[in-house]
Amino acid sequence: MKKPFVTKEKAEQIAEKIPTPFHLYDERGIRENMRRVRAAFDWNPGFKEYFAVKAEPNPEIMRLLMEEGAGFDCSSMTELMLAHAVGEGKEEIMFSSNETPAGEYLYADRIGAIINLDDFTHIDYLNNTLKRLPDTISLRYNPGGVFQMSNGIMDNPGDAKYGMTRDQLLEGYRILKDRGVKRFGMHAFLASNTVTNEYYPKLAGDLFALAVEIRDITGVALDFINLSGGVGIPYQPEQEGNDIQEIGRGVREKYEQILIPAGLREVAIYAEMGRFMTGPYGALVTRAIHEKHIYKEYIGVDACAVNLMRPAMYGAYHHITVLGKEEEAADHVYDVVGSLCENNDKFAIDRKLPRIERGDLLFIHDTGAHGFSMGYNYNGKLKSAEVLLRENGEAEMIRRAQTPMDYFSTLDCLPVYNRLQEAADEVRLL
Ligand SMILES: *Cc1c(COP(=O)(O)O)cnc(C)c1O
Repeated sequence: MKKPFVTKEKAEQIAEKIPTPFHLYDERGIRENMRRVRAAFDWNPGFKEYFAVKAEPNPEIMRLLMEEGAGFDCSSMTELMLAHAVGEGKEEIMFSSNETPAGEYLYADRIGAIINLDDFTHIDYLNNTLKRLPDTISLRYNPGGVFQMSNGIMDNPGDAKYGMTRDQLLEGYRILKDRGVKRFGMHAFLASNTVTNEYYPKLAGDLFALAVEIRDITGVALDFINLSGGVGIPYQPEQEGNDIQEIGRGVREKYEQILIPAGLREVAIYAEMGRFMTGPYGALVTRAIHEKHIYKEYIGVDACAVNLMRPAMYGAYHHITVLGKEEEAADHVYDVVGSLCENNDKFAIDRKLPRIERGDLLFIHDTGAHGFSMGYNYNGKLKSAEVLLRENGEAEMIRRAQTPMDYFSTLDCLPVYNRLQEAADEVRLL
């Protein structure tokens, strides 16, 4: 069963200072999980988790992951800027981007990020942009076809825009070697949100075998292999979560079966997990403000898809706990909906929940990754605050909610802007 990491009393206490909706994060959960990840891979001296910043680009969350030994995986200019600012120059960064503009390569190179090239043609593009190649380069692999594990097809790399073919990869390493690159990496991301301990070991086995071929064919011995993201979390209450210790053991087995006998004994394992690192340790806290009885029973809440897009975008399941009613029978069936003028703005459809009254706080689970960060501003709805529940029980606002003037701030028409400012002052007093 899924249990919220706050009580109703604690959530109400926070909501007195920081109005709902807000995303709440659990410092202890994030730190302990990061420690488990490191322990699972401590057999590999070069292991590094580069936290996928897109999952939760908040400096406070990034900082505490960095304190526990994480680097950052970035995919855009602003993510690079954020990672560099948080790390104050001591950060380690992977830049795993695609369709990358020249300026982003320039900046990534300037701050010392490891550049992971998504395509074969980017070797020349990067070379032309920098007028040289960095000492370290990683190449992203796409095997095509379908990615299969024992329980069936997991994903469809043949349909994915990312990475390069096997032949391009081999040719790529030859070229990089000829042009004086000194350290080489390989990267692949072949399945998303896998809730099985088998994904990383299977992927690692495939990449390790390929690394041996690369060495045999091109003479390039890889320095690191990046298993990227894709380690999932159990969004459904009856799902069993991944056991990272088991996953680490599975990767080690492949390492010992494939790389060691081939003489590739010093390959570092990298990961760039996002969802697994913060997903379960964040929640969207929202208040029921309306109930509606038409052809179905609706509960209207003060959050909407702007604050959490996954249900609207993917039909994703997010478990909901009505705070203070954890022990009550789930004997009502509701659609829990936000206020967008879009009928897909539903956090839950036909969900069995205890009877909800106006004013109840709902804890929407597992929003710590790809939750707040995916938000947008449709309908002029504003993005929420983010709050960090510290290990000592204190709640700290780590991002304030957007204001109307934040939303209007990129407008360029001065008279209208001034009238909006007046309106904003008026609205603040309501
Ligand atoms: C999204 C992404 C990740 C993180 O994926 P998760 O599923 O959150 O672990 C890592 N690397 C790259 C290149 C990505 O695009």
